[in-house]
Parts: sequence; structure tokens; C-alpha cells
Amino acid sequence: MRREEAAFPTLNTEEIATARECGKTEICDAGQCLFEPGQRPVDSFVVVRGAVDIIDTSDEEERLLVTHGPGAILSDITSLAGRPAALTCRTAQRAEVIRLTIEETRVLMVRSASLSEKWFAAILRRHELLEISGFKGLRVFGHHSDPATLRLREFLYRNGVPYSWIDIGKTANGPALAALGDQPLRWPAIVWRQKVKLQNPTLADLAARLGLQRRIPEETFDTVIVGSGPAGLGAAVYAASEGLRTVVLDPLGPGGQAGASSRIENFAGFPGGLSGRELGLRMYVQALKFGATFSAPVQVAELRCRDDGLHEVIAEDGAIVRTKTIIISTGVSYRSLEVKGLPELRGSGVFHSATQVEATLCRNSPVHVIGGGNSAGQAAMYLSKFSDHVCLVVRGGDLNKSMSSYLAERVRANPRVRILLHCELRAIEGTNALEKVHLENTSTGETSIHESGGIFIFIGAKPCTGFLGERIRKDGRGFILTGAEALATGAWPLAKRLPCALETTCPGVFAAGDCRSGTTKRVAFAVGDGALAVTCVHDFLGTYA
Ligand SMILES: Cc1cc2nc3c(=O)[nH]c(=O)nc-3n(C[C@H](O)[C@H](O)[C@H](O)COP(=O)(O)OP(=O)(O)OC[C@H]3O[C@@H](n4cnc5c(N)ncnc54)[C@H](O)[C@@H]3O)c2cc1C
Repeated sequence: MRREEAAFPTLNTEEIATARECGKTEICDAGQCLFEPGQRPVDSFVVVRGAVDIIDTSDEEERLLVTHGPGAILSDITSLAGRPAALTCRTAQRAEVIRLTIEETRVLMVRSASLSEKWFAAILRRHELLEISGFKGLRVFGHHSDPATLRLREFLYRNGVPYSWIDIGKTANGPALAALGDQPLRWPAIVWRQKVKLQNPTLADLAARLGLQRRIPEETFDTVIVGSGPAGLGAAVYAASEGLRTVVLDPLGPGGQAGASSRIENFAGFPGGLSGRELGLRMYVQALKFGATFSAPVQVAELRCRDDGLHEVIAEDGAIVRTKTIIISTGVSYRSLEVKGLPELRGSGVFHSATQVEATLCRNSPVHVIGGGNSAGQAAMYLSKFSDHVCLVVRGGDLNKSMSSYLAERVRANPRVRILLHCELRAIEGTNALEKVHLENTSTGETSIHESGGIFIFIGAKPCTGFLGERIRKDGRGFILTGAEALATGAWPLAKRLPCALETTCPGVFAAGDCRSGTTKRVAFAVGDGALAVTCVHDFLGTYA
């Protein structure tokens, strides 16, 4: 890996001394293994003397990624998240190291702000470097038009698990495929080195088998956060940093809709913008630092608001998490279009997200983005890096009506993006994957057929609140009512106090972000709403200082 200061900082004598106070000092012989792939939990280390190698053993031949010397930090997202190691760490020569468990690492972060700054900058930058280093890691074998393969890849990407994808539809990947042997396999297959570990797994199988899903401790939490988009992640950072026992549940992993945003330019403090994935990973790591527990994939199917002051969160698989309060931050999902051929090709060229995972599937093919809002504009800009023929299909006649002016201008100036106003998708065609789209110009009634490698749909969003029972009241469009609006429904059960600003019609259950009625559908708003929800939790529990 490329050496650079942010990724490979050197701790000073004072910082090493603080680390020594928090962890345990060990003398290791040359060649001693500190951790290896699959091992869990993975401790973090500070090298005091000698040298330690980080080695990629995911291929037949070992590959040395980096050698750490005195003052180096050995830690990554894996160790903080309690997930199994993906790399091998071995001493290159006799070495003195400080070993730190997750809890000891957290204590160290609180004790030394300068060390904490170096530590987290290193973790995030190294993660980026590893992704572009050619590290093979876990291998997903699957076809580019297979929705199950796409789902597994999205899950690994969201959760920051380094992996590589082998498209079994490509002749160039024949030798890699042949190396798996002749037994018939059910695709997608998960492979480590040349061994097939899982065939056509569900997300739950994959997470359980690879140790990605954290077991939720059987305790009563202060708060359970349902959904880990910006609102849930914002809430997790504030709740955990303020000492609340916090668990965060999500069917896919951290990021939410923002994870599908290639560049967020209106988040205060980032004038150059940052990708939604980067923002999501940063907030995830920050919440882990403060001790929040994350578990994915967990789809919440029901909330039970009990009258004894406790609540239960029921997952789709029947697991129950007990808690004093709940923050619902389940956001919205994009509506689909009811056009001929679309249900059959969802995930096989029809997408509701435009991340690197989907964009690489359509590389060099013409693509069609449906919608006229900011999310559609961003998707068009991002996809134009992969395809020189991006059509933005807009129902209305004026892009500025639904898109921020800076973005509309940028889209108009992009020679790779063609804007089709007064235009609607009518049908799609394809045998195993999308091949053609039928468009209608609604001002002339003219229809046309175009080749397409991908349709990206970003039209009207609907709240993910269907799992909530009648006790939590919603507005006519399904968004959760809180505060004064919740009170106005007449369903607020307490006479002795009013609901707080983010409290639903069930005392102790709060809503934040896009799923809440009347909110501004923006990342910064969602993060702020998550933080406000934590203030409400403190008020409810009587824990605010
Ligand atoms: C492509 C795109 C680009 C965008 N660009 C910008 C931008 O530049 N600037 C900006 O300010 N905003 C932008 N937005 C909007 C912004 O991303 C949203 O306003 C923000 O993500 C809302 O955050 P949230 O946490 O409320 O909800 P979401 O981000 O929708 O997150 C909700 C989370 O809840 C989870 N969930 C849903 N149901 C359940 C369940 N039953 N159990 C458990 N978990 C569940 C979901 O998996 C998801 O992870 C963009 C959106 C998109 C799609």
C-alpha cells in the first residue's frame, strides 16, 4: 500500500506512554501472528519497537501490504465493529507491542484527543487505500444481471467489507471459474481463496457465516435506533457519546439513501463536498468509537409499545430487543414505476440506487435516469463517469423547478448527459437483463425505443413506515406524526405531559429524519433531527445533565 502520513501516522513518545497505560505491553518473537483472517474479536496494537507486517493471505500467494515500525497504529474498522479480521498481522522481527481490546481502545481515545485524531484519520484512509490496492479478500462469484449477486455486493459495500467480484458472465473470468472445480454451484457463490464457502446465501446467512452480524446483547437498552441512514447515524453518535446504551438496526448497513449519493455538496463544513458513502462510514466509525452496537441485516417488523415503560423491537426473524426508548429513522424508499416489463427486470438493469456497485454494471452502455429531483441529477452526473450516453428523463418541462440550480446548471453543462423534458418511461424490454426502453414525449405524443444498459429510478419517495401499527399515528401519506401534530390526533395517551417535539403518539418512541412528517428531506436536516431525538430521549429518561 502507498505510504502517506494520514494513513500511517507515527505516535509520539507521550502518546505511546498513554497507550501503555490503557493496554497491555507484550514482547513478541519474530514471525508471531497477532491476528489472522476469520479471527474475532481483533485487538488493536501500537508498535513500540521492532516491525510488524500486514499481509494479504486471501490469494494462493501471500502478499505483503505494509510493514509497520515503531509508533505505528494497527487498527481498522473490523476491530472497532467486532468483526472478524480480513488480513494477517505478523511480526517481521522481534517486537514490543501494546495490545488493546475494543474497550481499552475506547478509553484511550477519550484520554488523548491528538491520538484519537491520528487513529481515526488512519483507519478511514487505510480503508480507502485497501479498496484500491487490488486486495482480493472475499470473492463474490455471480452474474452481472443477477439481483441476488447485486444484493450481496451492496451489503458488503455498505458495511465496508473489502471484497472482489468475479462476473461469471465474462469469458475472461473462465479460468477463475474453472479453479473452483467441476461441481455444479448455486450462484452467487462466496469464495475464500479457492474454497466455496456459501452458495446463493441470504444476507442473514452471509452475515452469520462471516461473523459480520453482531449478536445483540440480552439487556435492556436505553435506546434502539431503527434505521442507519444519516438520521439514525446522527442519533447513534450523540446517544453513544452521551453514555446511552445504544443499538442500531438496519436491513442493509450504514448509509441509508445518502449512501447512494455520489457527492453531497450542501452538508455544512464540507465546501468541496463528500460522497454519501464516505459520510456514512465516518459517522459509523464515530458511533463505534463511542460504543454504539450495530447489527445488520436486521429488518424491524414490529414495535410493541408496552404500558410498563419498556418497549420491544421485533425483527423479521422473530428476535426481540428490549429498550426504554426507540428512535425510528427508517427514511424513505423510492417508488417504482408501473410500466410493462419492469417488475421482471428489477436488479437486472433496473435500479433505485446509483453507487459504484450499480454503475460498474453499466459501464460504457447507454443509461437512463428517471426523475427531475436532486437525487436524479446527482445520479446522472455520477453515471456520466462510467457512460458517455446518459439520458435524464424528466416528466416536467423545467429542470429548475425540482432540482437545485447549481446541480441543474452542472447537468446542463455535462456533454455526456442528455436531458429529455416532457418525457416518460412507458415500457422496458429484455430477456435476462434490460435491453431497451420505450419513451414517450408527452407534449407531442411521440414514442421512441432506445438501447439501455440501466434504468435508475428516482421518483417520488414513500416512507418506510408500513411496519408500524396503529398506535403510532401517521399522516395521509404515511409519514410519522410527532409533537403537536401527534397531540392533535387525539391519540396521545398521557394527561400529565405533552409529547416532546419528536415524540410519536406512543410515549418514549421518537421519529427522526425523512420518515417524520413535515421534515426537510436533506442529509444535514436528518443528522440534526437524529441529534434532537437524543435530547428527547434524555428528557424522557431524565438523564440530561
Ligand atoms: C441519490 C441521492 C442523492 C441525494 N443527495 C443529497 C444531497 O446532495 N444533499 C442532501 O442534503 N440530501 C441528499 N439526498 C437526500 C438524503 O440522502 C436524505 O434526505 C437522507 O438520507 C435522509 O436520511 P434518513 O436517515 O432520514 O433516511 P434514509 O437515508 O432513507 O435511511 C433510512 C434507513 O432506514 C433503514 N430501514 C428502512 N426500513 C427499516 C426497517 N423496517 N428496519 C430497520 N431499518 C430500516 C434503511 O435501510 C435505511 O438505511 C439524496 C438522496 C438520494 C437517494
